[in-house]
Amino acid sequence: MKIYLDGKFVDESEAKISVFDHGLLYGDGVFEGIRVYQGNVFRLEEHLERLEYSAKALLLKMPWSRKEIADATMETCRQNELMDGYIRLVVTRGVGDLGLSPWLCPVPSIFIIAGKIALYPAEHYTTGLSIVTVPTRRISSAALPPAVKSLNYLNNILAKMEARQAGALEAIMLNDQGYVAECTGDNIFIVHKGEIITPAASQGALKGITRSTIMAIAEELKIPLKEADMTRYDVWNADECFLTGTAAEVIPVVKLDGREIGNAKPGPVTQRILEAFRRRVLVEGTRL
Ligand code: PMP
Repeated sequence: MKIYLDGKFVDESEAKISVFDHGLLYGDGVFEGIRVYQGNVFRLEEHLERLEYSAKALLLKMPWSRKEIADATMETCRQNELMDGYIRLVVTRGVGDLGLSPWLCPVPSIFIIAGKIALYPAEHYTTGLSIVTVPTRRISSAALPPAVKSLNYLNNILAKMEARQAGALEAIMLNDQGYVAECTGDNIFIVHKGEIITPAASQGALKGITRSTIMAIAEELKIPLKEADMTRYDVWNADECFLTGTAAEVIPVVKLDGREIGNAKPGPVTQRILEAFRRRVLVEGTRL
């Protein structure tokens, strides 16, 4: 595999970052996960815009234009002949000393990996996931805005471990007010009496690119959709539930905290959304 690292393509075995890089020492950096479908990079502009917003939030000045990053992303796919897969794009603060001071890291690093990802076993896309609510709360935006896609994923990792301890593959994370924020790596939607509902990003969710795609699809299919506060009770009593993310795509949820959702099978609205999503990713996107 060829990795793009600071302007060059290098072999995987040569793709190395300094132990003094603050991305490693402090999680000081930002990233994106992007999909390519049949040679079309899905919503590349939106991903690069979110990357810029995340970097801005961390006062991390990226010395590359959006076009340069886009070209490097596309070229990484071409170098690896990746027509269908998952791209990880990472920007770190760069090499500094052992103190926190980001201003002592003069040059950020960028690397791009074009590979594959399978977040959940394939059968769950037809049978649905059984998930749990975990004790670890989503970080408050007063501490670090959850909309920033930073390299610090410890909050999500703790929740993921708690899910695993409970025998589940994914977890709902509540915010500090006790409202549903999102899952460890996905946004959440429920369907209730024909309406699709998702927590507002201000409740602690990442502004998912898949989430916004689902919003566009719902509008096209004329299925009402709103952002609203959501509790575990709302999810238990929903007719349907599904999660969205670049890696996960659209995956049904059929159980939460031991309560069956609807009839414990992926529901008709979820199926329609999932099918529309699968069609859309093939036609939208930037051609390699
Ligand atoms: N929430 C979190 C915490 C995530 O890590 C992700 C995956 N990037 C998402 C939601 C979904 O976002 P997207 O659809 O942009 O991949």
